[in-house]
Amino acid sequence: MIRASERTVIVGGGFAGLRTAEALRSRGFSGDLLGVSAEARYTYARPPLSKEALRNPDGVGAPLPTTADVRWQLGVTATGLDVTGGYVELDDDRRVAFDAVVLATGVRARHLPGPIRGMALRTAEDAEWLRSVLHGTPGRVVIVGAGFVGSEVAVAARSRQWHVTVVDVSPSPLATALGPHVARWLWEQHRAHGIELRLGDPVVAIEKAEARLHVLLGTGDKLIADAVVTGLGARPNTEWLDGSGLDITDGVLTDAAQRAVTTGGTALPNVVAVGDLARTPTRWADGEAVRWEHWAGATTDAHRAAAALMGQNLPADVPPVFWTDVYEHRVQVIGLPKGVESEPEAGPRGFCVGYRAGGVLTGAVAVNWPQRLPMLRRELCQRAAA
Ligand SMILES: Cc1cc2nc3c(=O)[nH]c(=O)nc-3n(C[C@H](O)[C@H](O)[C@H](O)COP(=O)(O)OP(=O)(O)OC[C@H]3O[C@@H](n4cnc5c(N)ncnc54)[C@H](O)[C@@H]3O)c2cc1C
Repeated sequence: MIRASERTVIVGGGFAGLRTAEALRSRGFSGDLLGVSAEARYTYARPPLSKEALRNPDGVGAPLPTTADVRWQLGVTATGLDVTGGYVELDDDRRVAFDAVVLATGVRARHLPGPIRGMALRTAEDAEWLRSVLHGTPGRVVIVGAGFVGSEVAVAARSRQWHVTVVDVSPSPLATALGPHVARWLWEQHRAHGIELRLGDPVVAIEKAEARLHVLLGTGDKLIADAVVTGLGARPNTEWLDGSGLDITDGVLTDAAQRAVTTGGTALPNVVAVGDLARTPTRWADGEAVRWEHWAGATTDAHRAAAALMGQNLPADVPPVFWTDVYEHRVQVIGLPKGVESEPEAGPRGFCVGYRAGGVLTGAVAVNWPQRLPMLRRELCQRAAA
């Protein structure tokens, strides 16, 4: 347990790092909070980057308001962690001692191999660049990767009159994340808005051809593009933890209290991992350790991590939630949409699909029906507690 006189170092100034600082303060930690973050900007929200930020420049990358007093050092990258010596190594050759450390270095966008990689979208600078392209003369954009970011960029590009083709190696993208029914519905929305879908077809190469790009597909087809945007998922930022002794197979493995676990299986009491970086066992996935990359998960992790560091009771386990926007529709997911799919239930302006295993609700997806979520959350929590 950390004491008031002690120093906690937060590595990573994203939403999860900021929320952990706030959770520590709200739980009574009055010691020194030092934050180190590779980005030169103060913490900002990433979800708008693939939505409003591509339409409207106002507020892109604006600092998130906070009450937590943290001494942030921006534009500084951690290069090493010594858990025995109790220090973090920085790229300016400094060593920063800690009594406790919060690992919150998130993930970075995956790219296509090869010299022409397309534009990925992870930072405010990426969004500014992509907006400047989409707000130029409309042409043909190929989006490689039909995940949430790809789907949202497709919406933004269509709204600027671009001809949009979405390519994905999977024949049914987003079916795991949204459940088959809502995933099919989402791609129907895209087709209805004139988006061309090339599903089940991998991109094998991108070549430059004078001022344009040629996207070569596994079928042998060639798509001509003025811009290529990739939404290929993300890779955890764990390189700086090489040699730390922590289990960094796909992010940082933690126990249920966010305490980082070593390769030998020991959970360290003064090292916690949060946000997109953390791979945490959860009852919502039958005890399996999973890495969610969702905004709301960062807050849940932050409170668990702060409670663990402060020696306090862990907060109640809440089901994971996330959302995506497609045209004028909002899609919200709670729990895990796997198991037996129910018939869609019609709501006042949308619908909801539930998922059950052995008759027990495991997750649900609501389209334009936010009022349905509190009831679903209660049902999920009651069933999980039982
Ligand atoms: C375009 C986009 C749209 C999204 N839309 C949604 C959505 O609609 N709904 C939803 O639920 N979620 C969405 N998300 C996901 C959500 O934004 C993330 O889950 C959340 O931002 C994770 O926060 P984090 O702090 O864990 O990681 P990050 O925000 O990645 O922050 C990590 C920080 O650590 C820094 N860092 C990395 N390595 C080092 C190092 N060695 N030393 C120091 N600093 C380092 C990074 O530069 C970064 O600033 C979206 C994400 C993106 C990119």
